[in-house]
Amino acid sequence: MNSTRTLPSVCPLDCPDTCSLRITVDGARMVRVAGTPDHPITQGFACVKLARYPERQHHRDRLLYPLRRIGPKGAGRFETIDWDTALNCIVDQLARNIDRFGEQSVLPYCYAGTMGLIERDYPLAFFRGLGAAELDQTICAASGGAGWESVYGPHKMSTPPEEVPHARLIVLWGINAVRSSSHLIPLVKRAQAAGAHVLHIDPYRNETSRVADEFWQVQVGTDAALALALGGEILRLGGQDASYLAAHAVGLADYAEACQQWPVPRAAEFCGIPADAIRQLARRMVACPQTYIKIGYGMTRNEGGGNATAAIALLPALIGAWQHRGGGGGISTSGAFRLNTARYSGLHLRKPHRRVVNQNQLGRALEDTDQPISSLFVFNSNPAVVAPDSASVRRGLLRDDLFTVVLEHFQTDTADYADIVLPATTFVEHPDVYASYGHYHLQWAEPILPPPGDCRPNSWVFRELAARMGLSDPVFQMSTEELVEDLLDSRHPFLSGITWQRLRRERSVRLNLPEPFLPYAQGSNFPDGKIRFAPSPQQIDFREQPTDAFPLRLISPPGPFILNTTMGNVPSIIRAAGGEPVVLVHPQDAARSSVRHGDRARIRSRYGAIVRKVEVSDRARPGVVVALGQWWAKLAPDGRSLNELTSQELTDLGGGSLFGNPTVAVEPLDSDLDSPA
Ligand code: SF4
Repeated sequence: MNSTRTLPSVCPLDCPDTCSLRITVDGARMVRVAGTPDHPITQGFACVKLARYPERQHHRDRLLYPLRRIGPKGAGRFETIDWDTALNCIVDQLARNIDRFGEQSVLPYCYAGTMGLIERDYPLAFFRGLGAAELDQTICAASGGAGWESVYGPHKMSTPPEEVPHARLIVLWGINAVRSSSHLIPLVKRAQAAGAHVLHIDPYRNETSRVADEFWQVQVGTDAALALALGGEILRLGGQDASYLAAHAVGLADYAEACQQWPVPRAAEFCGIPADAIRQLARRMVACPQTYIKIGYGMTRNEGGGNATAAIALLPALIGAWQHRGGGGGISTSGAFRLNTARYSGLHLRKPHRRVVNQNQLGRALEDTDQPISSLFVFNSNPAVVAPDSASVRRGLLRDDLFTVVLEHFQTDTADYADIVLPATTFVEHPDVYASYGHYHLQWAEPILPPPGDCRPNSWVFRELAARMGLSDPVFQMSTEELVEDLLDSRHPFLSGITWQRLRRERSVRLNLPEPFLPYAQGSNFPDGKIRFAPSPQQIDFREQPTDAFPLRLISPPGPFILNTTMGNVPSIIRAAGGEPVVLVHPQDAARSSVRHGDRARIRSRYGAIVRKVEVSDRARPGVVVALGQWWAKLAPDGRSLNELTSQELTDLGGGSLFGNPTVAVEPLDSDLDSPA
């Protein structure tokens, strides 16, 4: 008898495409993942990462039972315990710590390990019910979001991807869309086939550069200057849409003055782009109202990232592109999901004047002896690897007096420091609802496989803990289905007609948007509806400039197979990615640094050092070292994370991380001290 079934689901990874999936299972095994054929965004394909999810799902290292630490922190030695013991142990220690240090000494640490709203955000209700410290979730999109919203107001929106084939000039700015927005690419190609010109702007040449008609290898961190030079040239040509701006914008004079600081020749030299190319792009934009500019997040992760986003975001407004099908662009669509978020993450329980910890400064918070963190709960994240300044984070996690609970699928680097590890379910083992930051379809997924061992959803864990801690708010009795119904109980017109019954029946429902949807065609989301050209964004220079000791700039875009650490222990992905983490070094820099292709080299910044394999390639700009993807530290040759090299300093807007910032040196491994373990 054939026990194979193909069932609908939704990709849970932190990716703008939020694919609608068809998952084939054979009995209790996942055997194949594919994209839903008739989904307008997914277009029938899943990416290389998700195609390998069956291997992750049935990985022999999957955590199956609660664990209690029996060795030193970081050593990864644990004993198996049952859920009752684990939960009682957590509640006892938590109560003691709150008694001694106060509820604000408790810190949740989480991000987008799953994009399912309930399993991602519902646990926060528990911490808000306790009165714990608030986590400022800034690690990825904060500065880009703040930059965008400084121009267009709250609730970020973008041109719908379905409209991209109407674009006639496409600028993919700081984004390797082939890897990080792969479902945008077929739509870009359709526009291209219809005559669109595609420009890719990025400090390193990658797969997206090959799709584009033109590639600009821009100097790292100069995007605001380039955008202001383009703006100035458009104004010089008289190419601004005067009637659109008169109706929907303020601050043009201030902006024009900022643009004057960046005449094309100056910007050309500063950004490393020929002046004629900048002038030609400005002319193209003036001639083409269907200009679409997609902004990536990588370039937002440096000191001027918020300003750079704002400077680029103003360009489609300047030429009035938002009024035209295919025109506009964007950084995120997430703000259009106007769900009723008042309750599901416990915002209604939030107590005033809570301590707020920026998640990019976890190390500082854990090392702070004046306001000690007594209890750390990590879920949907792996901060021992992904948080900046790993050495500081590690020192914090090693504190004997810190009680750490980690909810995970695998024994990650972070889980090695836990006192209690709780085995979590994967996206095919629990129900959840998914918004998106790359399109406008709300989706629902039901469990399709039984959890192995004793794995439990995050929502179950925090309901149990709430009951044991005596938290009595009704939110802690709500099922996932009830929470989703509550989320949909929004009076916003974008949610009109989207009922729980309909979502459950159709699985993927487009928001109730006008057709065609032209965001910002009628101005911004500010109360006055005006797009803000003032205060004008500025080019903000790096505080840390290259020196003789640290002559190169490090950037860390996604690799072809490994982006963040979620899929980082899947054997076939590790093999496909070359078996170990790699840095790209330009031939001139390799020669100056005396490192050769295929060597392992030491990469050193002011904050720490790591060992990585060198690929000598002119895909990197001279002066720029490109570290591809975020690998598990314990799977790197030296057992160290890329974030050994980064700092806990913050971006100009939004409190974002400076992953794209540090200056580094690349050195041969020339002493025993440098040799990988
Ligand atoms: S493209 Fe993104 S959303 Fe789609 S399957 Fe891959 S990771 Fe998931």
